[in-house]
Amino acid sequence: MKILDRISELIYPEKNICFICDEYEDAIKNHLCIECRDKLEFLEQTISEDIVCPLRYTDGIREIIFKYKYGKNPYLYKMLGPLLLEEFIKRNINDIDLIVPIPMTRRKKSKRGFNQSELLAKYLSEKLNIELDTRNLVKFKKTKSQSGLSKSFRRVNIRRAFKIIDKEIFADKNVLIVDDIITTGATYTEAKRNIMDANAKKTYLITIASGRDI
Ligand SMILES: [Zn+2]
Repeated sequence: MKILDRISELIYPEKNICFICDEYEDAIKNHLCIECRDKLEFLEQTISEDIVCPLRYTDGIREIIFKYKYGKNPYLYKMLGPLLLEEFIKRNINDIDLIVPIPMTRRKKSKRGFNQSELLAKYLSEKLNIELDTRNLVKFKKTKSQSGLSKSFRRVNIRRAFKIIDKEIFADKNVLIVDDIITTGATYTEAKRNIMDANAKKTYLITIASGRDI
């Protein structure tokens, strides 16, 4: 940390800054002010028993996720992670053995500098005290970005894009898969297929926002 950053951190502690509007307030929790939180659209129903998702994919959250992923702002996991954690706790799911992020190809990760789902998975793993595995579900096939593709093409695009390194890791486990957005569910279905083939008991998905019509 630079000296100037250190001084400003003393005057304006990072924890009291809203990461969306940059407002400073003592009352700010988890880097999100009340006004910005009110602009997010929280889902009133659950999508399904195995999918945990707090938000509808509206313009507000779309911008934030865009800034997080493509604007290369990895620190935004500190604001998005608590939204996931809050929803997960609300759902009262108590049987997760392992947390696994949707992987990126090695090339893409090194280009972006981080995997946005991995940072969220790491956050959840630390807060929930559940083991994290980032090495045994890997993406080896380069795919087109799923956004803008039709439902059937998304399935084709992601098919056989993942592989499992060590099957043992998943055997008899309930696995929580972490992704940023769910739209058609093609990515989750493909990751789930790989993990279930490695003899997992069950999978869940946790994701920030849903682009589905529910
Ligand atoms: Zn704000």
